[in-house]
Amino acid sequence: MTQEQYLPLAGRRAIVTGAGRGIGRSIALALADAGAAVGVTARSAEELEQLVSEIKAKGRESLAVCCDVTDPEQVRSMAQTLRAGLGGVDILVNNAGNAGSHKFVDHPDELWHRMLAINLTSVYYVCKALTPTFIEQRGGRIINIASIASRVGDRYIAAYTASKHGVLGLTRALAAELLPYNVTVNAICPGYVDTPMTDGNVRNMMTLTGKSEEQVRDFLAKTSPQRRLIAPEEVAGLAVYLAQDIAKGITGQAINLDGGGVMS
Ligand code: NDP
Repeated sequence: MTQEQYLPLAGRRAIVTGAGRGIGRSIALALADAGAAVGVTARSAEELEQLVSEIKAKGRESLAVCCDVTDPEQVRSMAQTLRAGLGGVDILVNNAGNAGSHKFVDHPDELWHRMLAINLTSVYYVCKALTPTFIEQRGGRIINIASIASRVGDRYIAAYTASKHGVLGLTRALAAELLPYNVTVNAICPGYVDTPMTDGNVRNMMTLTGKSEEQVRDFLAKTSPQRRLIAPEEVAGLAVYLAQDIAKGITGQAINLDGGGVMS
């Protein structure tokens, strides 16, 4: 047996959505480090091309397809192309998502629909496109990147919170339905993670509150009992664990990764 074959995900094929930057990019790289071939998708071609080169430099197969995961036609085509290019799919990571905030009293309907489309309906579309493959091969792993906002309510993020609570509902329903086929479906619920999305939130909060970047970052860090933001690599490490054979007994679960803020 070669050293490569000892890697826990050697020979596995993974698809990661929203892989161009932030958490998705870390997950794609970590899956490759664990031995998997990785198909990546997002809307921005340049970030994906850079990622594919980095994964290939690790000696793993990789390919990219640009896709807006809120569009079912694009999702079907992306899933077909990546599945064919990788020669199959064993692991799906639904990570693409976006945050938006507004007071509820004059909440724009557009924001509500946009949050549900990118954070929840997209997960439904991608799972729908790939579930027949998992059922056919009698095995697979689906890992949904939810949020600590899937666990608790907070001010000004009604649409994001509702969409991320929905991801847990879908995770549990699909876990139950796919149990007979040896497919596990789980969700990871991170607190604030240090990514470009959080950089955007920091900028918005600076504008709204007049506070400095340091003050806003300090405020976000203090929302966690560990008084720090989570690193994308921490989310990636948990995703790689859930993708492995050793995690076959874990399904229908939502795992908090928030420095101990929510204990459930
Ligand atoms: P980033 O904004 O840093 O990255 C998001 C990725 O998703 C990008 O690659 C983006 O690429 C892609 N994406 C966004 N919209 C679409 C779309 N319509 N179709 C396809 N791809 C899309 O986000 P994070 O890494 O911070 O977040 C990743 C996930 O983790 C999200 O689901 C988020 O809700 C969740 N999360 C994040 C937390 C945080 O504090 N950052 C905390 C808890 C959960 P492109 O724009 O090119 O399409």
